[in-house]
Amino acid sequence: MNITRKWASKKQRALEILVRLKRLYPNAPCTLNYATPVQLLVATILSAQCTDERVNLVTPALFGQFPDAEALAKAEPVEIENLIRSTGFYRNKAKNIQAACRILVAEYGGQVPPSMEQLLRLPGVARKTANVVLAHAFGINAGVTVDTHVKRLSYRLGLTKNTDPIHIERDLIRLLPSDDWENFSIRIIYHGRAICKARNPACQACLLSDLCPSADLPLLDEIPPSVLSEE
Ligand code: SF4
Repeated sequence: MNITRKWASKKQRALEILVRLKRLYPNAPCTLNYATPVQLLVATILSAQCTDERVNLVTPALFGQFPDAEALAKAEPVEIENLIRSTGFYRNKAKNIQAACRILVAEYGGQVPPSMEQLLRLPGVARKTANVVLAHAFGINAGVTVDTHVKRLSYRLGLTKNTDPIHIERDLIRLLPSDDWENFSIRIIYHGRAICKARNPACQACLLSDLCPSADLPLLDEIPPSVLSEE
């Protein structure tokens, strides 16, 4: 089946992908464990270059000892580093977490501000982290979270030709209704983990295959290496 003939526009195809993803993954909660917006912010900073599973292994001890922004702001940096070491880049992450928490304490009463502009001022917070926090802690769709799975699948599904997160997000924002930005992103992440893996996409088992220009293609020869990582 010729995909471009069956689906008149990229937007139409994106909307059908969204409908099917919602059917496939009716409940798609954030896979990071947290009890408060501050904990979600910290867990999301920790998830850079790391799996959510690995983050969930370290956060019980981290949040047990330092449950809120005040405690993290006052901690000895080495204590945070020791607790998050296995997530990688732990010195930098500890530095950013503490600096971000100090700003939260000094300027926002120890709470996470519910705005993209304010979140982007925090060390270690780029649009990906801000989108996750706004969507899951506050129910605000400020943008589309673009992690490594969203990057890879959006490219394979022909929803973008870009490989950098800022431009991919712009492309997806144009294609999707704003109420569904996070619905799309979280479900694409689920699909990337379950079916459309970086090295071995299971196209035969994929319920998006008739919508996907990359279905059954020799992907590894055609896709830029920058969209193939799988944290
Ligand atoms: S058809 Fe294959 S490449 Fe396309 S989304 Fe499904 S698994 Fe990924």
